[in-house]
Amino acid sequence: MGHDAMTGFFTISLRRFYPHWKLILAVMLLLSGMVQWHRSEAVSLRGGTNPHITWYVKTAQKAVALTFDDGPWKSSTPKILHILTSNHAVATFFVVGQQVVRNPQIVRQEIRDKMEVGNHTYSHINLARHTLREDVADLNKANHVIKEATGITPTLLRTPYGTYNRTVLEAARSAHLHMVMWSWTEDTRDWSNPGVQTIVSRVLSHIQPGDIVLFHDGGSNRQQTIEALPIILKDLRLRGYRFVTVSQLMKMQ
Ligand SMILES: [Zn+2]
Repeated sequence: MGHDAMTGFFTISLRRFYPHWKLILAVMLLLSGMVQWHRSEAVSLRGGTNPHITWYVKTAQKAVALTFDDGPWKSSTPKILHILTSNHAVATFFVVGQQVVRNPQIVRQEIRDKMEVGNHTYSHINLARHTLREDVADLNKANHVIKEATGITPTLLRTPYGTYNRTVLEAARSAHLHMVMWSWTEDTRDWSNPGVQTIVSRVLSHIQPGDIVLFHDGGSNRQQTIEALPIILKDLRLRGYRFVTVSQLMKMQ
């Protein structure tokens, strides 16, 4: 009796949902196909063969490029500049246009201290989520305020959150910017304040000639970055490394 009732229930349920199951299956297959396609696109873009993105530079010279995103900030950038200059090191600052408008004197100091200044968008937007027209407008606006503050138009772009797609690549081309990411082993994730020693060992344990190291000089309290930097500079100097800007590093390949 119970068994018959159960069978009846399932028959009715299956009859009721059967057409939907077909639809659901079709949608699932379609989605899985799209995911696969996206993955293969990501792999082909990340494969190191894309001439429009630099992750690191193949070089025999013992040189690395330190990079700082999200500045300039009054609370941290001048301290980082002081550490770099007193250690005779240069670095590349990927600045946010809005911050440049707030602190033009700091970005001018970066240039005076022989640092390179790159574009990190005007308003720190996720470029991959905007249209081509919006991306180009944002990148050009950032280029414009950097030029206004320093007299120099940047040639390099680092995208916020490290995201990109074909639209972003097209927007970068249109704004005459070359995209620079960072070496896979050289992401300090200093923005999460993991501790000075963690930042130091993340940089030092895998570093190789031609690497591009990712730090941040803004966003929140960067005290750990400020404390880790002199340790990193001294250790790498002892190992024979020199510190160059991303553009200088790209000429060493
Ligand atoms: Zn950023």
